[in-house]
Amino acid sequence: MSVVAAEASQLGFRKPVIISTPSHRALALRVQGLIGAASSIFSGAVMHVPTDSIAAALLHVSQQQSDGCICIGGSTTVGLAKAVSLETGLKSLAIPTTYAGSEMTPIWGITRDGVKVTGRDPRVQPRTVIYDPELTLTLPPAVSGASGINAMAHAVEALYAENRNPLISLVSEASIAALAESLPLLTREPNNLAARTQALQGAWLAGIALGTVGMAIHHKLCHVLGGSFSLPHAEVHSVMLPYCVAYNRHHAPAAVDAMARALQVPAADVPGALHDLVARVGAPTALKSLGMQQGDLERAAGIALARPYYNPREVTFDGVLELLTTAWAGSRP
Ligand code: NAD
Repeated sequence: MSVVAAEASQLGFRKPVIISTPSHRALALRVQGLIGAASSIFSGAVMHVPTDSIAAALLHVSQQQSDGCICIGGSTTVGLAKAVSLETGLKSLAIPTTYAGSEMTPIWGITRDGVKVTGRDPRVQPRTVIYDPELTLTLPPAVSGASGINAMAHAVEALYAENRNPLISLVSEASIAALAESLPLLTREPNNLAARTQALQGAWLAGIALGTVGMAIHHKLCHVLGGSFSLPHAEVHSVMLPYCVAYNRHHAPAAVDAMARALQVPAADVPGALHDLVARVGAPTALKSLGMQQGDLERAAGIALARPYYNPREVTFDGVLELLTTAWAGSRP
C-alpha cells in the first residue's frame, strides 16, 4: 500500500475521494494518511450499489471537487467507484481486499428500485490496481473461501465462453490452479501471506477473464438467485459452481479438461472435486442452507429462462429445474 501516493500522483489525482464501506472507514483513513489531507473520505458504499448510495457519493464528489477516486475494500466498494466513474468520467485507483475480481473488469452494476442493472463501459475500469495481500489478512476464512470461489467461477465460465480465446483460456486455467491451491491453505492458516498472495493472483487472473469474455449459465443463475431471491452473492456462486459445471460437462470437453489439469483430478471428477473444494474452504454447498425455499425453484427456473443467452448446452426449463433442485439439496454432483 506504500505505493499508493506515487500511483495516485501518476494518475494526476490532487484531491481524490477515498471510497470505503462504513465498516472499513479505518482503511480509508490509512490511505488518507498516505496521500495527504487534500483528499476526502466517502465511507457510504453499500452492497449491490443502490442508487441512493451513488447519489450521496456524487454529492460528496461535487462538494469536495474531487478529481479522482480511490476505492479500498471488497467489490461493493469497487462497484461504487465504478458508478461514480460512469456518471462523472473520473478515473479510479482500486485497492481490493477480497477475491471477487471486479477491479479488473469494465463491468458496472447498480441497483435501481430493487432491480440490479449491469453494463460494460471501459471508463469504469480502474486505471491502476494495487494488490496488497496484507490487507486481506483480516478476511474471515468463510468470506475468503466464498469470495475465492466467486473468482474461480469467472475463470471456469471463461473456459467455455462463446467468445473464448487461447490466451484467456491459459489465464483461466492458471487462475483456477492458483485458487484451488491457495484457498484451502488460507482457510487452515488465515495468516499465511504466501497463500493470500497466490489467492489474489488467482483473483486478478479471474477478473481479467471475466472482463474479456462473456459468461454463461452459472453467472445467469447466480444473478437470478441473488437479484430475485436476495441470496448472498459470493455464497451463491460457491453453491452453484459444481452443479453448473456438471450441467455443461459433456458440452464443453476442452474446458473440463483444462479444469481437470488445474484441479489435478481426472476430467470425470471435476464437478465432484469442485464440490469438495467448496466444502473444504468453508463455503456453503447447498441452496437450502442459504434460505432458498424449495417451492421457489420453479419460479427461479422460469426467470432464468425468460431471456435467452449463450451456454454451451441448451438451456431448458426442465434442465435448469433439475440443476437447481440438485443444488438446493447439496448432494455431491
Ligand atoms: P463485499 O465488498 O461486500 O465484501 C464481502 C464481505 O467481506 C463484506 O462483509 C466486507 O465487509 C468484508 N470485507 C471486505 N474486505 C475485508 C477485509 N479486508 N477484512 C475483513 N472483511 C472484509 O463483496 P465481494 O464479495 O468483494 O463482492 C461482491 C459484489 O461484487 C457483488 O455485489 C457482485 O455483484 C460484485 N461483483 C462485480 C463484478 C464486476 O465485474 N462488476 C465481479 C465480481 C463481483
